[in-house]
Amino acid sequence: MAVLVLDKRKQPLMPCSEKRARLLLDRDRAVVVRVHPFTIRLKDRVGGSTQPVRIKIDPGSRATGMAMVRESGDGIQHVLWLGEIAHRGHVIRDQLAQRRAFRRRRRSNLRHRPARFNNRRRSAGWLAPSLQHRVDTTTAWVRRLRRWAPVTAVSQELVRFDTQRMESADISGVAYQRGTLLGTQVREYLLHRHQHQCAYCHGQSGDPVLEVEHVHPKSRGGSNRVGNLVIACRDCNKVKENRDAGEWARDLAPARGRLDVARRHNAALVDAGKRPSLRDASAVNSTRWALFQALKAAGLQVAVGTGGRTKWNRQRLGIPKGHALDAACVGEVEAVSGWNRPVLAIKAAGRGSYQRTRLTRHGFPRGYLMRHKQVRGFQTGDHVQAVVGAGKKAGTHTGRLAVRASGRFNIQTPAGVIQGISHRHCTLTQRADGYGYFVQSKIAATETEEARTEAA
Ligand SMILES: [Zn+2]
Repeated sequence: MAVLVLDKRKQPLMPCSEKRARLLLDRDRAVVVRVHPFTIRLKDRVGGSTQPVRIKIDPGSRATGMAMVRESGDGIQHVLWLGEIAHRGHVIRDQLAQRRAFRRRRRSNLRHRPARFNNRRRSAGWLAPSLQHRVDTTTAWVRRLRRWAPVTAVSQELVRFDTQRMESADISGVAYQRGTLLGTQVREYLLHRHQHQCAYCHGQSGDPVLEVEHVHPKSRGGSNRVGNLVIACRDCNKVKENRDAGEWARDLAPARGRLDVARRHNAALVDAGKRPSLRDASAVNSTRWALFQALKAAGLQVAVGTGGRTKWNRQRLGIPKGHALDAACVGEVEAVSGWNRPVLAIKAAGRGSYQRTRLTRHGFPRGYLMRHKQVRGFQTGDHVQAVVGAGKKAGTHTGRLAVRASGRFNIQTPAGVIQGISHRHCTLTQRADGYGYFVQSKIAATETEEARTEAA
């Protein structure tokens, strides 16, 4: 994992290798600024030459992938850093639902009050708190990374499919096969539109192989435009032969049996130009759009890409699936080098509850949290290293801390929670900042591990 570097005045320099960072620290030329992501500050350097660095973002509902790449002139992107933010939208949603229920429960005890509903005003760009959190967390991380690296531009995946370009493009010649960008996108788009189901039999033929099918056959002059394409199973495709969808429906007229009835019905619909709605496929996801606007408002050059292009890039370059690696493949990419590196898993954990009263299921007080969040100089969310000399919990435990009033803390390590560690054993490595961190090993390493277990 690349180490982020700041100069003497805390201005970002180009990230360096772990080996170089170790040398600098050993020679006392640098100090550690942060552990996650690992950042050092040079004691004796002011300014330095930097190269263009781009942050690439693949926003998702549960997790957002981020990659920092160095762009060289020949279009090759060298991956410097990979990260994956796990969002806590569902936690926020649940907490608000609980608050709402508690209030409702309490208010029902009161005297009669006239109905007051629909009395809230929402601005045009309003997002639910659980969605706004995704936008805020992602922009916060872009802001942080800009403090630690010489970022010059941002790329973001904005839409799934570029439906406009797809509808207008003449794809005859390049056709719709896998392998070309437009072809892959068209195929993905059709599969999504038909929900991975044959347009004629809706999966009733039992044939799992899905193909791109021409409603008006190619052999009879049917065009390659998206309007003339549907997804059909190989069985239906074969039975339909080189007939028009309408002709096929008429030939099936005295249909008997469920399969033929379904085929006749759907072929007539397809012939009449009825296709499943593309609304959700083409509509820009509101959260992604809000993120795009927020990044632009921060004064950044934002390039946008489509999900179809990301997937095409990833498959063409032979890169495995993953949020952070998807992010590295966003937008126009010639080649990606150095992608096989550890990923920093960043978990949005919040900063604890403001409310000090714990409630029962029905909203009545059950107990109280400590008035102060600090215990023996530690706070929940701090990252610590605990060295336990003897006993059942002997060893070195590194992770996120949860304080207890007793001074015997819990530590969340990648291997699980270690309970009852005395504050005396703990050394602070990084103060709580609302995130939990751990480093995911390289992709190849996990693959070989899998192969080894399969072999065993
Ligand atoms: Zn079929």
